[in-house]
Amino acid sequence: MAETTTFSGNRALQIEEPLIFEIGSHGRTGIDIPDAGPVDEDRLAGCKRKARIGLPDLSEPQMVRHYTRLSQKNYGIDTGFYPLGSCTMKHNPRLSEKMARLPGLTDLHPFQPAKTVQGALEVIDSLAGWLKTLTGMPAIAMSPAAGAHGEWCGLMAIRAYHEDHGEGHRRRVLVPESAHGTNPASAAMCGFTVDPVPANELGRVDVAALKAKLGPDVACIMVTNPNTCGLFETEILDIAQATHDAGAFFYCDGANYNAIVGRVRIADLGVDCMHINLHKTFSTPHGGGGPGAGPTVLSEKLAPYAPLPFVVHGAGGLELVEHEADSNGAKPFGRVKGYHGQFGVFIRALAYIQSMGSDGLRQASTDAVLNANYLMARLGDVLTPSFDGPCMHECLFDDRFLKDTGVTTLDFAKGMIDEGYHPMTMYFPLVVHGALLMEPTETESKETLDEFIGVIRALAAKAKAGAAEDFKAAPKYTPRRRLDETLAARTPVLRWKPGANAAE
Ligand SMILES: *Cc1c(COP(=O)(O)O)cnc(C)c1O
Repeated sequence: MAETTTFSGNRALQIEEPLIFEIGSHGRTGIDIPDAGPVDEDRLAGCKRKARIGLPDLSEPQMVRHYTRLSQKNYGIDTGFYPLGSCTMKHNPRLSEKMARLPGLTDLHPFQPAKTVQGALEVIDSLAGWLKTLTGMPAIAMSPAAGAHGEWCGLMAIRAYHEDHGEGHRRRVLVPESAHGTNPASAAMCGFTVDPVPANELGRVDVAALKAKLGPDVACIMVTNPNTCGLFETEILDIAQATHDAGAFFYCDGANYNAIVGRVRIADLGVDCMHINLHKTFSTPHGGGGPGAGPTVLSEKLAPYAPLPFVVHGAGGLELVEHEADSNGAKPFGRVKGYHGQFGVFIRALAYIQSMGSDGLRQASTDAVLNANYLMARLGDVLTPSFDGPCMHECLFDDRFLKDTGVTTLDFAKGMIDEGYHPMTMYFPLVVHGALLMEPTETESKETLDEFIGVIRALAAKAKAGAAEDFKAAPKYTPRRRLDETLAARTPVLRWKPGANAAE
């Protein structure tokens, strides 16, 4: 429990909140339900519950206060700066939220006949149009539910292409060491084997090593551009050419698309397939596991294998193709999801795109890169940048600046929490030691960045002045102090039992 000297355990307005099961008392309720009457034993086939179900019994105010207090303990993009690299945590305009809540859109059912949901199909179709235009790619699969799901969808299309062309033996996938963990995971889920490609001393793909690994059993490469070190892969055209010469496809992880929207047409880089994290680049809320959306653009060659369902322009309006027989000779590899995709996310992304316009999108990527370079420039003398700048939309530091201070990247991050900041991404990418990856995004003001810079500079000075013990004790001002993460991972307590889990 947090250190405290108050009788209640509360610290001013920071209330020590018990679990919901620990409050209330038997029989209390916020609603009046008539007695259910006798239960027909026979119909339950002996499964009638013998003891109380153990749900918490609370009055309405108790319940409302409990959840409101929990929500106040939450830290989110609406409460403060969120410098997580690789995640693009930017402001979500309220206009997009308003559009997503329009009753005409929220009251739809996915089983409604297409002629009654023409507006919804138009949302899907216009968003698809924007994404194809921005990337310069001819086709798109709209249904993947997240970036990782889009990777899997793209890889399934690649696999289907190879199998269809008598090259089903192509099962090796080349993935750079700096890649996000979802890349090798998606490849493995697709039945491919993963072959890692090292990074060079400039933080980019070692092209010679990649070329040496290309061969007749390679299905595709998976390259992130800009990569997870926040750097543009300058030899991307050479990489694409060599990949195609070897009969393999170029899968681009598009999670960092925020850095280049409106400036780079993905098709011009020789990309065959790329997922777009709508919840990163096109400003829809994410975190805590979703929801997101990962529409995946496809080249001409891969287009016929795109999964069902998809929207087409028919004689009588927009139509949904749900079956291979109706797909006009295409060879969809199957479905990746029930229904048509994350519709609420589509609305937000389309509202964002339309309110920004193409000039606004270009401005956003420009400002995202400018903000990251501002951080890099103002922090470069106290932290240790891993690679020479300039960077793209995020800047990468390693822990050399903490050498001999006794402070680790983790301790430094905990110190940031006491200063009221969500830490940056730590220990990722794996290609540098003790990584600190910061992505400010375009939506932060100069004042916010200056204050953040001030905090980081002060913490770095404190670490260098020998305050290791202070850092080890952080966070000091949070409802819970530092957790024993090893213990939590090895012996997780996953179930509350009456009396058993009381906080010490
Ligand atoms: C976020 C991210 C992914 C995975 O996307 P999800 O939407 O979280 O599944 C893949 N690659 C990179 C580089 C990412 O940042």
